[in-house]
Amino acid sequence: MPVNIPEVEQKRIVVIGGGFAGLELTKRLASTDHQIVLVDKNNYHQFQPLFYQVAMAGLEPSSIIFPFRKLFRKYKNVFVRMAEVTEVNTATKQIFTSYGFIKYDYLVIAIGANTNFFGNEKIAEHAIPMKSVAEALFLRNEILSDYENSLTIREFDTRQEFIDIVIVGGGPTGVEVAGALAEMKQYIIPREYRELAAHEIDIHLIQSSDQLLKGMSNKSANAALKYLTALGVKVKLNTRVVDYDGKVVTMNDGSKISTRKLIWAAGITGNRLTGLPNEVLVSGNRLKVNRFNQVEGLEDVYAIGDIAYMEEKGYEKGHPQVAQVALQQAKHLAKNFRQRLKNKPMQAFSYKDKGSMATIGRNKAVVDLPRTSFHGAFAWYIWLVVHLFAIIGTKNKVFVFLNWMWNYITYDQSLRLIIRPFLKGKS
Ligand SMILES: Cc1cc2nc3c(=O)[nH]c(=O)nc-3n(C[C@H](O)[C@H](O)[C@H](O)COP(=O)(O)OP(=O)(O)OC[C@H]3O[C@@H](n4cnc5c(N)ncnc54)[C@H](O)[C@@H]3O)c2cc1C
Repeated sequence: MPVNIPEVEQKRIVVIGGGFAGLELTKRLASTDHQIVLVDKNNYHQFQPLFYQVAMAGLEPSSIIFPFRKLFRKYKNVFVRMAEVTEVNTATKQIFTSYGFIKYDYLVIAIGANTNFFGNEKIAEHAIPMKSVAEALFLRNEILSDYENSLTIREFDTRQEFIDIVIVGGGPTGVEVAGALAEMKQYIIPREYRELAAHEIDIHLIQSSDQLLKGMSNKSANAALKYLTALGVKVKLNTRVVDYDGKVVTMNDGSKISTRKLIWAAGITGNRLTGLPNEVLVSGNRLKVNRFNQVEGLEDVYAIGDIAYMEEKGYEKGHPQVAQVALQQAKHLAKNFRQRLKNKPMQAFSYKDKGSMATIGRNKAVVDLPRTSFHGAFAWYIWLVVHLFAIIGTKNKVFVFLNWMWNYITYDQSLRLIIRPFLKGKS
């Protein structure tokens, strides 16, 4: 059964995924003479760089997500369908979704990536990932519930399992989560969980390579390590987590840590769609594209963002899977669609690295720009401004700004509520 979408004379561009890449592309194509169909398994866009603040009870989820329908309500040529896409048939030019099939003239795959557990099913079963706002909320509930429950436990070792946390992966997400947890331990626990001895809470950050923030400068990596250590985070470099059964984390050096919470921020792998030729799939489950973002060998199928693998000078192993690449590819592809409409040749994409940053805590961030890098309070202000401007929606920007101001002045995050989804039949 075809999904109900009006048949028109305009060419139909189907965009799968409304993340950074798919949303930017749809916005830029909305005013062109195409019919655009945006298909996403959620009815909202998620701002992933601030997931950790939702998980740490610093922001409400509604401040960092935005409904697609609201964004496109003025565009009569844009159709949003909430559905999971499972398969592509490039011969019949159809995609198959949980609600039926959709025909396309051009297809843009922008389905992003998911958590990579590197094939370890036991870890996948027990660890907590943070690749969606739902997962961030789950983590928030787990952290807060465990603090609540720990207050009911007398026995030291059992209590430690509830309050100690292990974070795997020393990239920006792992570093940001570790820093936020350390600040919670420092400012919140002594005030609100008075019977808990804050110094007994151990926050471990495990990183497989010899430095944090791989991909950033040595200067930034060292500064992040110094900040985290000063905050009391136990950072272990050159160490891999090899097993976790929900209670005990085992490292490759044989050491073990007992904890009920293993936060997994150690890697990503491209989301899968069946029906695409095997040859286009490269390492990390990415889709090999040419410099026009066309999936190799498929003229009318494009891929952008985290899922796309493009080689260019300076990026011989593909671009980093970050928001800037997704946004730049989306802008560029929108331009190329306009070129196609005018029967003009498409232009090759070229990535302009504008730098990268990570925050560790209040007045502590690291920033790498193409020619320089710096850290400290100024870097933190830059981090705040950049993220504030990047969030979609004026109301969201205002809410996030007010929250941050409030947190800064009061040393408090006021959203420590445990709200669990209602499951019928379960109390
Ligand atoms: C916790 C975290 C923190 C991050 N922090 C930073 C940061 O500070 N700076 C930075 O530059 N980058 C950061 N990133 C990376 C950045 O978020 C990604 O590079 C960016 O989101 C990629 O955009 P995308 O559009 O390719 O994919 P995504 O933004 O992941 O969007 C993919 C979309 O596709 C949809 N989708 C997936 N599969 C299907 C399907 N089968 N059917 C229908 N819809 C589907 C999803 O619902 C989603 O809306 C972070 C990522 C995470 C997880």
